[in-house]
Amino acid sequence: MKTETFYTIDMPYCEQLEVRRTVFSGGNGPRVAVLSGIHGDELEGLYLCHCLAAWLEKMLQSNPQGLLGTVELYPALNTLGLDTLTRSLPVYDTDLNRAFPGYSNGPLPKRLAAAIMAALEGADLVVDIHASNIYLREIPQVRINQEFENILLPIARNMNLNLIWLHCAATVLETTVAHSLNSCNVPCLVVEMGVGMRITPEYCEQLLAGLLNIWKKMGVLAPDLSIPDISHHPYIADDSNVHYLNAQTSGMFIPTASHWTNLSQGELLGTIVSSFNCAVLSEVRSPVDGILFTLREYPLVYEGSLMARVMARRGVRL
Ligand SMILES: [Zn+2]
Repeated sequence: MKTETFYTIDMPYCEQLEVRRTVFSGGNGPRVAVLSGIHGDELEGLYLCHCLAAWLEKMLQSNPQGLLGTVELYPALNTLGLDTLTRSLPVYDTDLNRAFPGYSNGPLPKRLAAAIMAALEGADLVVDIHASNIYLREIPQVRINQEFENILLPIARNMNLNLIWLHCAATVLETTVAHSLNSCNVPCLVVEMGVGMRITPEYCEQLLAGLLNIWKKMGVLAPDLSIPDISHHPYIADDSNVHYLNAQTSGMFIPTASHWTNLSQGELLGTIVSSFNCAVLSEVRSPVDGILFTLREYPLVYEGSLMARVMARRGVRL
């Protein structure tokens, strides 16, 4: 294992900004990468990188031939954001995941994006880990642009996730790292799981098993290596069977349903109440028989705030 700095820039006073990766090198097999922390308030991927590093270190002690390729971990792409509890890139107030593919002589967000693209050139598989935001909790899922479905869907099916959400091309942002890499023929999957500013260890362990499974199938890991079992098989959602539930009033959300449960049409997910008096201002109910895969985490809501996403059970592909 070695730690490398792949991008450096002088800070205005005297420090240096360094962006690092941890590299595990085996033989000449495939090269894979895990990205996280592109949003400074999302921490699930940082813990996943720790778990992966711990698993690989331990495995290599007892089985030095177990790694046939290269694994690169990029735990903190937006280092300034992570160090200052900021989602965007501080000073520029820019979403780093809207700066790709970037260019090397532009302002900092564009330079950093270009450096990340250059660092990942030629990789055989990249997984970009996100943790929603502080407002919504997500089950472990992968989101795929239908433009790249043929390449990415077979990989995603084996990643031990609960859901694959296929987005039509028109709703996809082209300035993300994933879209930019896929456009350069570097396969990149986007994982969303958990909630911002928190860690959900069981989700990280679930995805760790999925990544090891994929890497073993690709030949990054030796075929006889023992890895954790895969126990989850994803539903496949698309824009036709995902229902968005928005708040009918402003107020304080008190959930009554558990995340990732089956719902009946009309079933109560929670109420929006007043903090000023005893009033129940509105209710949040499921519009369909379905599965609750996104649930509001942050209690205070405005009228129109996203409260939940429900995937209709009818027509769901497995
Ligand atoms: Zn994110």
